[in-house]
Amino acid sequence: MVAAAEAARGGARVVLLEKNQKPGLKVLISGGGHCNVATTLGPREAEPLFGQRGGRFLRRALHATPPQVIRGWLEERGVATVEAEGDKVWPKSMRAGDVLNALVGRAVDAGVELTTCAPVTGIWSAGDRWRVSTDATEVSAAAVILACGGSSYPKTGTVGEGFAWLRALGLEIIAPVPALAPLRSPAAWVRDLAGVTLPDAEIQLRVGERIVYRRRRPVLFTHRGISGPGPMDCASRLEKHPGRFSVHVSFCPDASEGEVAALFAGGGTLSERVRDFGLPRRLTAGLLERLGLANMPPAQVSADARRDLVAALTGLEIPISGTEGFARAEVTAGGVALHEVDAKTMCLRRFPGLYVTGELLDVDGPIGGFSFWVAFATGVLAGRASAVS
Ligand SMILES: Cc1cc2nc3c(=O)[nH]c(=O)nc-3n(C[C@H](O)[C@H](O)[C@H](O)COP(=O)(O)OP(=O)(O)OC[C@H]3O[C@@H](n4cnc5c(N)ncnc54)[C@H](O)[C@@H]3O)c2cc1C
Repeated sequence: MVAAAEAARGGARVVLLEKNQKPGLKVLISGGGHCNVATTLGPREAEPLFGQRGGRFLRRALHATPPQVIRGWLEERGVATVEAEGDKVWPKSMRAGDVLNALVGRAVDAGVELTTCAPVTGIWSAGDRWRVSTDATEVSAAAVILACGGSSYPKTGTVGEGFAWLRALGLEIIAPVPALAPLRSPAAWVRDLAGVTLPDAEIQLRVGERIVYRRRRPVLFTHRGISGPGPMDCASRLEKHPGRFSVHVSFCPDASEGEVAALFAGGGTLSERVRDFGLPRRLTAGLLERLGLANMPPAQVSADARRDLVAALTGLEIPISGTEGFARAEVTAGGVALHEVDAKTMCLRRFPGLYVTGELLDVDGPIGGFSFWVAFATGVLAGRASAVS
C-alpha cells in the first residue's frame, strides 16, 4: 500500500493486486489489534538493531522514511499517534483498523487501483516489460513491486510464494526462518510457570559462558515455553544456528553478582529476600524448589548452593528446543540475499523493473515497530524508483 501510493504520487498508473478480500490483514492483527506502527528511535539508533549487514543495507531507506514521516501520514488522515514505553508508537485510539484505513485511504486517494481477491500466481519478464498472472487475468507492466510478505502467519495469506517466484528467476534466497516467535521448552518446570510475567528481565544468548546477545525486554512464561518481546527477539538467531546458543534469563539485570549475593545476609526468609529483587511469588517458589532451597533460612545455605542461586538469578538457563515456527512467528528472517538488491531503489540488480520490499528481504529486526518501518521504508524507495522506470 505504501509502495503503491508512492508510485502513484510519482505519476505512475498503479494496479495493486491483493489476494485477500481486504489488504493489510497483518496491520489489523498487529500489536494485539492495536498496531505498534512505529518506534521513537531514529534511523541512527535503529540501524544496529538489524545487525551489521542488514543495518547498512537499510540505512538509506530508514533515513528516507523516518518514523516522524510515517506518523505524519497517519496524522494527516486524522489518526493521532502516541509514544509509549519500550520506544513504541501506537495509534492514540489503539485501533489497528484506524492505521489500516489511513494506509488504504492514502493509496486510493493517490490514484492506486486496488484489486482484491486477486491472488498472483506467477511473474515473468516479456521483453522490456513484466507480466503478472492472477487466477483471472494477466497484467503487463513496466515495473512490478513485490510486496507479498514472507512465510509467517500463513493463515493470513502470506505463504512464501514470493520466495518461490524469485528463486525460479535464479535469485539467491537465504533460507527463510521464523523470527519474532515464542520459544518452546521441553522442561516441565518451565511450562509449570505458565502465566508468570517479568516486566523487566534480561534475556541472554550465550555461547559457553560468553553472552553474545542480550535484550532487556519483558519475558512471559507460557504453557509451551517462554514468550514476550525478549524471547521473541531471540527466535531468528536460534533458528539460524540451532544448538549453538543457550538461553538465559537474568531476573535482576541492574544488580551485580555481589549485590545479589548480599541476599544471604540479614533477616527474613530466603523467599522474601529473593522477592526483594522483584521476582513474582510463583517464580521464587519454583526456583527455590528446583535448587532444593525451599524454606531454608538464608544463613544456612551452603557456599555451593549460594553460587547456584546467584547464578540462577543473574542468568537462569531455560532449556529451549526451538521456536513455535512460522504459524506463530510475527515475521520471517532470511529472504532475498541483499547483494541481489540495490539499496537505493530496492530494484533487483539483475532484473531491471522488478522490485522487492518488506519481509521478502533478508533483513529482520526486533519487536517494537521495526518490521513495519522496514516494510514502509523499503516500499517508499521502490515506489519512487518504479514510477520513473
Ligand atoms: C501477529 C502479528 C503481529 C505483528 N505486530 C507488529 C507490530 O505491532 N509492529 C510491527 O512493526 N510489525 C508487526 N508485525 C510484523 C508486520 O506485520 C510485518 O513485518 C509487515 O506487515 C510486513 O510487511 P510486508 O509488506 O512485507 O508484508 P505483509 O504485510 O505480509 O503483506 C503482504 C500482502 O501481500 C498479500 N499477498 C501475499 N501473497 C499474495 C499473492 N500471491 N497475490 C496477491 N497478494 C498476495 C497478502 O495478502 C498481504 O496483504 C506483526 C506480524 C504479525 C503476524
